Amino acid sequence: MTTFWDDVWIKDKPLKDTFKRLVQLESNLNAKVADRVTWNGERSAPNWSWVREIRGRTRAELNELEGMFSTIKMKIEKEDYWSWKLSGSGTFSTHTLTKHIMSSSYPTIVSNIPTQRNVLVPKKLGVFIWRARRERLSVLFELDKRGIDLHSILCPVCDDMIETVDHALFSCKKVREIWDKVFMWWGIGTNQKSLDDMLNGFSYLQCSELGVKIWQATIWTSIYLI
Ligand SMILES: [Zn+2]
Repeated sequence: MTTFWDDVWIKDKPLKDTFKRLVQLESNLNAKVADRVTWNGERSAPNWSWVREIRGRTRAELNELEGMFSTIKMKIEKEDYWSWKLSGSGTFSTHTLTKHIMSSSYPTIVSNIPTQRNVLVPKKLGVFIWRARRERLSVLFELDKRGIDLHSILCPVCDDMIETVDHALFSCKKVREIWDKVFMWWGIGTNQKSLDDMLNGFSYLQCSELGVKIWQATIWTSIYLI
């Protein structure tokens, strides 16, 4: 929305910064340009709405502002409309919103890990894996990194290593017992070095595309349950 005091700029700043006294007397700070400027086809004229009468030094500001009006030929051609500033096209999308939130919340983490989908499992599993791969799960190490005061960041299961996402879901010795069984069931050797290693590509598998999808569904489900 094009608001009069924020979006109309004179002298490289919005009107509200140039006419500081006046803006304090504005009855509606969200007034649109069309609310404050009328156009009769030939010239523009102001249409003010103040909370009280303008006098004294504020009067001088108003005179200055109105003086600018008479010199500026302003024509309101378009009706006001909503524009989404985060996307180039001005159209709202949840993708740009998510990207914005993520980059504001985790500015140091560059997310170029693509989202993977697997139709064999519920969507929430895909979301969980997506978060795990970006280390955005509430394991003790991540909570500590984000400034939460904790008594200990050691894994509560083995009490031996720091509870990172990788540790909690893959390398903790208790968790390894589960993975050994899953890998044995599938007849696959357990030589993956990390959670990422296990989730990235499946070159260690010797099976069809469907088999790969089923294996992915198996490990995603296992991770989720762990
Ligand atoms: Zn552990």
